[in-house]
This record gives sequence, C-alpha cells and structure tokens, in this order.
Amino acid sequence: MTIDPAKARLVKGATGDWEVVVGLEVHAQVTSRAKLFSGASTVFGGEPNSHVSLVDAAMPGMLPVINRECVAQAVRTGLGLKAKINRRSVFDRKNYFYPDLPQGYQISQYKSPIVGEGEIQVDLTPEHSIRVGIERLHLEQDAGKSLHDQSPTMSFVDLNRSGVALMEIVSKPDMRSADEAKAYVSKLRTILRYIGSCDGDMEKGNLRADVNVSVRRPGTALGTRCEIKNVNSIRFIGQAIETEARRQIAIIEDGGTIEQETRLFDPARGETRSMRSKEEAHDYRYFPDPDLLPLELDPEYVDALAAALPELPDVKKARFMADYSLSPYDASILVAERETADFFETAVNHRAGKRDAKAVANWIMGDVSAHANAQNVPISRANISSANVAELVDLISDGTISGKIAKDVLTIRIAEVGTVDLRTLVRDRGLEQMTDIGVIDRAVDAVIAANTDKAEQAKSKPGMLGWFVGQVMKSTGGKANPQAVSDVLKRRLGI
Ligand code: MN
Repeated sequence: MTIDPAKARLVKGATGDWEVVVGLEVHAQVTSRAKLFSGASTVFGGEPNSHVSLVDAAMPGMLPVINRECVAQAVRTGLGLKAKINRRSVFDRKNYFYPDLPQGYQISQYKSPIVGEGEIQVDLTPEHSIRVGIERLHLEQDAGKSLHDQSPTMSFVDLNRSGVALMEIVSKPDMRSADEAKAYVSKLRTILRYIGSCDGDMEKGNLRADVNVSVRRPGTALGTRCEIKNVNSIRFIGQAIETEARRQIAIIEDGGTIEQETRLFDPARGETRSMRSKEEAHDYRYFPDPDLLPLELDPEYVDALAAALPELPDVKKARFMADYSLSPYDASILVAERETADFFETAVNHRAGKRDAKAVANWIMGDVSAHANAQNVPISRANISSANVAELVDLISDGTISGKIAKDVLTIRIAEVGTVDLRTLVRDRGLEQMTDIGVIDRAVDAVIAANTDKAEQAKSKPGMLGWFVGQVMKSTGGKANPQAVSDVLKRRLGI
C-alpha cells in the first residue's frame, strides 16, 4: 500500500476531510552587541533599565542611527535563505500605543523590506523534504517589557530590550500540518545558527513565532486565518496549530464562520483564546521614518558578505553523504548543529588519518552526545576532544582495545579530564586487549572447568556460546579479544 502524502496530512472532521494551511512570521533577535538604532548593550539579563540609551527611551529630539552590523546580519540571513537582497529598503514607523513602547511607534520596514522572496528546504524525514517559500525578511525594533508582578498596585516597565534588532522572517502559507511547521522552524533555526545571525535561544525569547492558521476543504480557496501570537517553543507551535485547526473545523462544521483575529495559545489549558480582532495594515498608519534615510546597499558589499558565508546545512549534508558515505539519517543528525558537524569532520580527518567515518559518527551521535547532553553543555565543552574520538576509533580498529573497553576509556577521559592521548592512557592502565592465545586458552579452560554441566549442554545447544563468551570476557576484565575467545570456545566445546 502506498500512502499519498497529501492525503496523509488531512484532518478528519465530522463531515469529511480538512486541510490545514499554516504560514509563520518568525521574530529572530539579531546577534549584535548594540541595538538597531543605538549603542546600548543587547546583553540579556541585566538589571531592569540598565541597557537603555536616550534613543531607546524615546527622549525628545533623539535621532536613531542604523547599526551596520545588524544590516550585515540581515543580508547574510537573506543570502542563507536564497532570497533576493533588495538594494534599496526603507524604514517606516508603525504606529501603536503600548506601555512598553515609549516612542509610540515601532521602527520597522513595510513596503520596502531589506530582503525579498526566498525559500527553505525543510526536512520532514532524512530522505523527504519540502520547499517552503519565504515572503520577506525585514528589520525592526523590539519593544520593552511590562512587569506586572512586582507590586500589587503598580506595573513597571523594563526597557532593556527596547530597540534590540529583530529580523521578522515571513513565510508563505506553504505548510500543511503542525509537523511541517515544526520542521520549518527547526530548520530555520539551524540556518540562523550556522550563519550566526541569531542564537535561536527560544527560552530567552530570541526566536518566537506568530502562527497563522486556516482550514479548508482540500482543493478549495484559502479559508479565513487566525494569528496566534508569540509562541516560544517548537513544541508549543505544533500544539497551537493542532488546537487552533480543531477549533476552526468545529466552528465551520457547526455552521459558523471564522472571524479573522489575533489569538493567544495557553499551553497549560491547551486552548487558544481571542486577544483582539485582527488589525489591518492601515490601522498602523505606516509612513517612512523621516529620521532615517533609505538604506542603500552596493552590490560589492552584498557579494563580499555572500563570499564569506559558511557552508550551510543542506550543502554540508550532501557533502557528508558523498565524501564520507554516510546515510541521509546520520548526515542530517551531524549537520543539525554546525559545531557537531565540525567536531565530526575534525575527528575523521585527525592527523590526516584514514578512519571509518561511520564509526566516528556512531561515537559522536552515541556516547559523546549522550555525555554532552547529560552535562547540558555543547559538544565542544564535553571533556572529549575530536582527537580523542579519532584515537578511540583507531585503537579499536587496530585491535588494541575492544569496543567495550573503549566505552570505559571514554568514561575515564570524561571523569579525569587529561591531556594525555588515549593510546598512552590505554597503555598506562593496562587496558590493551588480550590477544595472546595462550592466556585466552587458560581463561577458557577455567570457565569450562567451573561449568562442566553447561559445557556438556552446549554441545547440543550451540546458542549457549554467547553465555560462555560473556563469562570469559568477565573473567578477563573485558580485555580479551571477543572474536578470539569465541574461536577458542567453539573448538573446546566442539560446536
Ligand atoms: Mn514584527
């Protein structure tokens, strides 16, 4: 049976199948030391109002000055999204009142954003991907933060975040399920982290999504959409879409219609709630900010940024599969974080050695990642260097240690944090694999002598060989070569 992927994504309603249509507006905080239009620090977690310039506080007469680094980050990101870089873009004032927006407007980009249409390859499985269109990317300021829980009678405002640069990345409504939207955000996050234009830290709110959801009968025109504001984890994005789609389907199947509105997702109650009826662009009275000139980019400037971009995940994945004969699955795991990909490649090529790339990948995806995750540190700070992984693979492949002892060696390295290479460590601790057949013979003899009844049974039950191998390995502290043990045992037991 074949599954039609388009059909598989449909949602069953009481009156038939529905298609969910999703588009995302992702706000990604630009990695930069200073804010978009002022020199104040962007460092997270300072005392309230300790990183606020007169521009950020909107004192009268202050003039914004564009931060060159934020522009470069937006262009680099646009290039990474295979998007059109607009040589000329304009900053507009988006007017609205909010207590944490002292200017009374947000400086954003409206009709002329810095980046136009592009696309992302979104991997649904290691083998299957879809393309999601990018509508635009524009630069804008973040707002401050109101604090309502500090006093029973007053609210406070913290302007540290006010004026921090954001990239708003708007997708086309190309996603058809919660899973596709989650995969999209995850891939976008990976690309941003590769480029270094946003750290993607969703817990700190540095990457958050407004989720547009509508439903329709397959093959019909787009339905009315609702926008769910500021969802700040990939899991919640998926839950918000599923919850909202079910709400809309129930209303339509009940004979009602969907009102276009802005909603909030409440993860604790698993529901979306109405926040306000949807505002239209003209409600914001956009107009070009008279304090800022249009932003004009030289083609040479854009070309130089393009030339300096790092290798991006799709290209790296294809290259890992071609150069190291890795499976699509292994390659996609390794390239998900640039640091892991670099760690892998350094290990494979350590001292220009020709070693089994699959074995290196397995150690990194297995024990090394498990250790890094347990310590909650990136792989580069996991007390195991890429050189160590290379040494480990070499020690196994030349027969110095068994795979089992290799795990112990890794544990020792993690616990003791040394600089001595692992070959020396193995020799100093006498962990070398026992290949001396005389020694193995004696160990086998001892085990058989202690288990004569089992040895008798094994003659008719060859499946017991494994148990005997285990006993010999145990008696030799795991240092015997398991293949040699198995060979000797077969001969002795007559199987
Ligand atoms: Mn925005």
